[in-house]
Amino acid sequence: MKIGVLALQGAFREHRLMIESCGQEAVEVRKTSELDQVQGLIIPGGESTTIGKLMCEFGLDKAIIKRADEGMPIYGTCAGLILLTKTIIGSNQYSMGLMDIEVQRNAFGRQVDSFEVDLPIPVLGYKPFRAVFIRAPLIEKVAPNVGILAQYNGKIVFARQGNFLASSFHPELTGDKRIHQYFLQMVKENVN
Ligand code: GLN
Repeated sequence: MKIGVLALQGAFREHRLMIESCGQEAVEVRKTSELDQVQGLIIPGGESTTIGKLMCEFGLDKAIIKRADEGMPIYGTCAGLILLTKTIIGSNQYSMGLMDIEVQRNAFGRQVDSFEVDLPIPVLGYKPFRAVFIRAPLIEKVAPNVGILAQYNGKIVFARQGNFLASSFHPELTGDKRIHQYFLQMVKENVN
């Protein structure tokens, strides 16, 4: 099983290392030919406008949407979540529109640039997950077919819709592999 990590900008190296530490092969994806080799894709955190622009420039936007329509699992973290979303509140920047969610960018304001919390995530088991938020977006609204996997202060920060998984926070920075393992399980189920 090969897992792609979109490597145009942002925190892609950390995701690659996490995938490898889970015992799977990771491929940095910058071209459509690299996307063709993978069975699942992670879109990392970074700057969503930059990643979106580069995706379109390299033809990866259409190629990713095609694979998504065919059922390939995709996990977006932070800026990656923004790129998966249908509605970005107050912005007309590019996004793929794959998840029926409404997202607010930089939702914690400038004062609270980044912080960490112990987040209960029932699908991962009893132990809370140390979640790192960096200029994070929030999911303000979800369609009925979107599953809410975690909330922080009453706001949605982790959600799944079929083959799409999205988190406001960065799970690749603390060494806790459970979210990457959860995503790998989605990929395994899709491949089998
Ligand atoms: N604030 C960034 C954006 O809107 C996301 C931050 C991140 O990915 N850590 O694109």
